Amino acid sequence: MTYKITLIPGDGIGPEVTSAAVRVLEATGLKFEWESFAAGAEAYEKYKEYIPKELNESIERTRIGLKGPVTTPIGGGFSSINVELRKRFELYANVRPIRNLPGVHTRYPGVDLVVVRENTEGLYSGIEHEVVPGVVESLKIITEKASTRISKFAFNYARKMGRKKIHSIHKANIMKMSDGLFIRCSRNISKEYPEIIYGEHIVDNTCMQLVMNPYQYDILLLENLYGDIVSDLCAGLVGGLGLAPGANIGERASIFEAVHGSAPDIAGKNIANPTAVIRSGILMLRHLDEQDAANRVKAAVHHVYREGKHLTRDMGGTTSTSEFADKVVEAI
Ligand code: NAD
Repeated sequence: MTYKITLIPGDGIGPEVTSAAVRVLEATGLKFEWESFAAGAEAYEKYKEYIPKELNESIERTRIGLKGPVTTPIGGGFSSINVELRKRFELYANVRPIRNLPGVHTRYPGVDLVVVRENTEGLYSGIEHEVVPGVVESLKIITEKASTRISKFAFNYARKMGRKKIHSIHKANIMKMSDGLFIRCSRNISKEYPEIIYGEHIVDNTCMQLVMNPYQYDILLLENLYGDIVSDLCAGLVGGLGLAPGANIGERASIFEAVHGSAPDIAGKNIANPTAVIRSGILMLRHLDEQDAANRVKAAVHHVYREGKHLTRDMGGTTSTSEFADKVVEAI
């Protein structure tokens, strides 16, 4: 059996870290056929489209993507391709497991929590306009449909994975209507899952609680922007953005990508840490129900970290992106 996967190498460090992940995934012995496409500025140069038609069709067909980060211009220019893909394919659940790796010393060992982020609306709606010169309005869209859908996803995920607790994270003291609706939906759904402890925390307090005592959390359920911000904080708890994987899950398709962005400061130097994309590849293997291959890649990554001899710069080592991938491949 050959798995057809849409590959979006992305830009910045994207091509370096995704090619490392592809090599690792192929080392499992599984057969993959990668349909590779540019996206964003690079695609626009070639096709005059940010998401080329061929890429769109490929995702429709394969329904599985492995993606590197794509740069989004700041303060102007084209809208995020990353956000557009999530909206277009209704990849409504962004799942980001946060776990320590052996040998990576952080303030808190044994962190094990999951960020479940609503991935299609909130302040990411991208609806902005200048009301009058000097005044800009950005609309935060929260719907009962999407809030209920992500809540159900989080509770089903908790049940399936044997997790015990969900906190819905909000700012409903200030955004009484929008965040109020979000937590009302999660509270309603929580009643259908009496075995799972349900709590609600305000987002600013959550940030403080996370850095003081991350062990109190199990699953964090958040609307889009809070999920984005809190994910990076959580990545920092376990060693940084080079380590944190993610999955964008929908009914029609799923795209696996790291939490981090295109890291222009280190792009093209073969020094980025590919672990986050490799771990995203593990999530992809689990999604494909290739548990044995997923376990082998996980064990190989853990082996390299436990040994601690071949680590990338962000982890205090001197090993390049490609050499790190070689070491993981050797350990599979
Ligand atoms: P970033 O995640 O790219 O980088 C933040 C910091 O973390 C940088 O110092 C970077 O060097 C470091 N870092 C990130 N990934 C690393 C890795 N794998 N190994 C080692 N160090 C790593 O965030 P940013 O600088 O805020 O954003 C850069 C661009 O990425 C922006 O255009 C942003 O829109 C885009 N972005 C894209 C995605 C995505 O494609 N899903 C996600 C986030 C940001």
